[in-house]
Amino acid sequence: MSIRKRTTKIVATLGPASSSPEVLTRLVEAGIDVVRLNFSHGTAADHKGRVETLRGLIEQSGRTVGIMADLQGPKIRIGKFAGSKVLLKNGQSFVLDAECELGTTDCVGLDYPELVNDVVNGDVLLLDDGRIVMDVDHVDGTQIHCIVRQGGELSNNKGINRQGGGLSAPALTPKDMEDIRTAASLGIDYVAVSFPKSGDDMRLARALLQAAGSHALLVAKIERVEAVDNLEHILDATDGVMVARGDLAVEVGDAAVPALQKKIIRMAREHNKFVITATQMMESMIHSPVPTRAEVSDVANAVLDGTDAVMLSAETAAGEYPVETVAAMARICLEAEKTADTALDTHFLNRVFTRIDQSIAMAALFAAHHLKVKAIAALTESGSTALWMSRLNAGVPIYALTQEVATRYKVSIFKGVFPVMMPQSGHERDDVLRAAEDAMIASGAVEPGDLIVLTIGEPIGKPGGTNTLKIIKVGEHRPAH
Ligand code: PGA
Ligand code: MN
Repeated sequence: MSIRKRTTKIVATLGPASSSPEVLTRLVEAGIDVVRLNFSHGTAADHKGRVETLRGLIEQSGRTVGIMADLQGPKIRIGKFAGSKVLLKNGQSFVLDAECELGTTDCVGLDYPELVNDVVNGDVLLLDDGRIVMDVDHVDGTQIHCIVRQGGELSNNKGINRQGGGLSAPALTPKDMEDIRTAASLGIDYVAVSFPKSGDDMRLARALLQAAGSHALLVAKIERVEAVDNLEHILDATDGVMVARGDLAVEVGDAAVPALQKKIIRMAREHNKFVITATQMMESMIHSPVPTRAEVSDVANAVLDGTDAVMLSAETAAGEYPVETVAAMARICLEAEKTADTALDTHFLNRVFTRIDQSIAMAALFAAHHLKVKAIAALTESGSTALWMSRLNAGVPIYALTQEVATRYKVSIFKGVFPVMMPQSGHERDDVLRAAEDAMIASGAVEPGDLIVLTIGEPIGKPGGTNTLKIIKVGEHRPAH
């Protein structure tokens, strides 16, 4: 009896709480599938150090853990205060002014002077993820005069959003462009673009990445009103999306986020893209060894919505219980997956596909589902076959067998897809099939006698798409030596 494998993947953000080799090792053992380097914090040297430590211990652990660089993007921030923070009272006036050097209870600086051109009287500004709310009263020169609607403590460099979106800052800042080059030089597997508004923003990021020699998968963080409006176009231009609930909630209003999460996950899957659900999933575990009931439900519901991955931010970057948080998240995902509907998705029959490789992927799913096979083995160079198969729920694990190291890391974020290292086995059909069976047995996926569905591109060794579907009883029909 093999143990049931968790199909939902876990992305964990690294930070001060999780950068030592000891904690990283325990995080890998606890089940992280992808680590996220937050380029809003730390230097290129910090990221390089983390990547090197991680790669070293991944090699020892034998697990495949991908690495994501998350670009800072045009997050608009206030400046610093003389005493690092102030207390704002409801009803008081307060000025945002790019020319204010050191903040007081009356005013604070801004890192985006153009904000003054983007706002008009009556706009609502949300600071520190919406904890502080201000109404714009009037604009005067470089100064945005506000009345504080919801006061409280405001500290250095907190973010600002405008309710309803519509800020002009371009998605890729000069710092992001530099960070794209850093990510490329580190051989990063995924790059997340913050605050994209359009498909063009994603195409620009792709062009910059490729110019830097990287074929990383792109993730569009859906966290602006415009991104929600342009979701189709963004999906066409990206490899994956993130439901970036922190900023998204501020822009669209928190109550709109749960329904949007479901819509974004459904649309991503329909467009053959992967999707990550992010932010505050296990927030209380920053300071507590156990999650709240609401957090348990949130993670489980994201699984039931069909997300590929769930993400941890401060919980693993700066929390007191990074390893416990990953372990709890893994446990919740596994349990939710038991209750998820394993019937083959009904929209399967309505899907339109004209490509041969896609047709083989769909046929493999259909056969795997009806024959109740133990596993699907997809021999793949790019990982696409595994991606297409994993967009529909067939209740069968998909093993991506590849010789491409980069592909092994890229598929690690796809729901229900498990990377398996495929040894060099020449171009003889029988040799390759036997090597595939051996690799599946060695990884613990199957035992002799199990039925599997295998997909492969023939002739073997000639680059090209998957065009062959084979149903195999493992260990049978072994060519004699
Ligand atoms: P961030 O993105 O953590 O980089 O802001 C995620 C979010 O906004 O939810
Ligand atoms: Mn964000």
